[in-house]
Amino acid sequence: MLFRQLFDQESSTYTYLLADTATGDAVIIDPVREQVPAYLQLLRDLELTLVAALDTHVHADHITGLGKLREATGCLTWMGEQSAAPCVSARFSEGSEIAFGGYRLRTLYTPGHTDDSYCFLLDADDHHYAFTGDTLLIRGTGRTDFQNGSARDQYHSLFDRLLRLPGDTLVYPAHDYKGWTVSTIAEENACNPRLQVSGEAEYVAMMSALQLPNPKLMDVAVPANRACGTTS
Ligand code: FE
Repeated sequence: MLFRQLFDQESSTYTYLLADTATGDAVIIDPVREQVPAYLQLLRDLELTLVAALDTHVHADHITGLGKLREATGCLTWMGEQSAAPCVSARFSEGSEIAFGGYRLRTLYTPGHTDDSYCFLLDADDHHYAFTGDTLLIRGTGRTDFQNGSARDQYHSLFDRLLRLPGDTLVYPAHDYKGWTVSTIAEENACNPRLQVSGEAEYVAMMSALQLPNPKLMDVAVPANRACGTTS
């Protein structure tokens, strides 16, 4: 399998390009609109066919590249069934499978950061991968104070779902603000300060004590992303 972790400096977003090198079929996770020309060049350079572009959730901090990628390649564009985004061509729900060549991404519904947040799981070449969106970050978790976020839901998504994955599962988040690129479930379980809580009540109290400013692009990005990034 080909694996590329791509970075958008403006929004500190990680985008993932995955491909079956035997068939040339590729998927892209959480693409950023401004980077679409670079993705298209990379697809051409590597002689890959983009079959699907997926967002882990409707983002508030950057505009999605889904619509532009579909226009350019004809790929399917996917978001979760909870996403208020009529522009997508397909929707996943809990346990959906999205194939590229001989590989399959499996969806895990993990609400909390937003009510449409999903993680994507993949077993490939003796590794477990988890693309955790803004549900689980490296030494952090996604904020839960807008877009129907819920600290309580996030606690259960983390503790009842993600942290029960095998400890050696590689954690690839949607963002990192310090340049960290990858972690594991075991490492986050042991070292992530947000996960060192006694239970749901402590987690909810910790998250509601965060006083975070709104993302600077929020008022632009959320409506634009519901249109797959093609209207503004
Ligand atoms: Fe987000």
